[in-house]
Amino acid sequence: MTVFVGVDVGSSATKSVVLDENKQVLERFILPTSLRLELDIQQLANQLANAFPCQRIVFSTGYGRNRVPFAVLNKPEIICHTKGVFSEFPYAMDIVDIGGQDNKVIKVNDDGTIQQFKMNSKCAAGTGAFLEEIAHKANLSLDELHGLAMTSHSQAPLNSFCTVFAMTELIKRVMQGESLPDLARGVYLSVAERIREMVGHRKTPVVVTGGVIQHNPLLCDILIEKLGDNLKLPAFAQFTGALGAALYAWDSKDCSEVAEALDA
Ligand code: ADP
Repeated sequence: MTVFVGVDVGSSATKSVVLDENKQVLERFILPTSLRLELDIQQLANQLANAFPCQRIVFSTGYGRNRVPFAVLNKPEIICHTKGVFSEFPYAMDIVDIGGQDNKVIKVNDDGTIQQFKMNSKCAAGTGAFLEEIAHKANLSLDELHGLAMTSHSQAPLNSFCTVFAMTELIKRVMQGESLPDLARGVYLSVAERIREMVGHRKTPVVVTGGVIQHNPLLCDILIEKLGDNLKLPAFAQFTGALGAALYAWDSKDCSEVAEALDA
């Protein structure tokens, strides 16, 4: 038996998807990416070897894709995200990926090729790091911040996107007596607004991926209000890059270069 593995080494989390010979997902693994990347990758290697003691064809992607010694090949994350998403939504679309430290918009043609992409890695606005910093300042976990926001019906977003200005605004509004649940909801409203701004007013379907959308159902609800039927959410939004890499691994099964690399 051979399995086909995609490993997406992101700045916040390392995700992995394992496919069988019929392209069916057998398993998904996730672990936090730390500063001790070699240990994280070794931990993943052990998980894979224990769960699948057979031939494994591994492709890597993501920020740390060059740091996976057991991958036979690596591919840029934009390409793998697109491949993973297109396998579930096979039409022209805009993909918005909200990761831990950056966000990107990928415009995809109806044959799955990439028309254009934009990446924002300079500013944490709307990313996982933005939510994490706010939760930290409020002395809350991400789940608690989300839970508080769910109890509010406020429609007042945070006006600042920049993390530093957002923090100043939040402190000012706390001093003025605004409730924490309303402010928490305002944070999610502003992330949703940021996503809407990134895609503009086009009619093309918008597929939102990444850990932030997977773990914050409130953000999905707000986005549905803003984008309506145009919004599509993958079943496992945080794993689309890893899925794409696994699909590339599957595609390579008859490739002589890969066979040679496995024999070496
Ligand atoms: P990257 O590819 O950059 O590592 P991901 O797409 O994996 O990023 O998303 C990571 C982000 O997802 C984190 O910054 C965090 O905001 C969010 N996230 C991940 N796990 C959880 C969780 N259990 N609860 C809430 N948010 C989470």
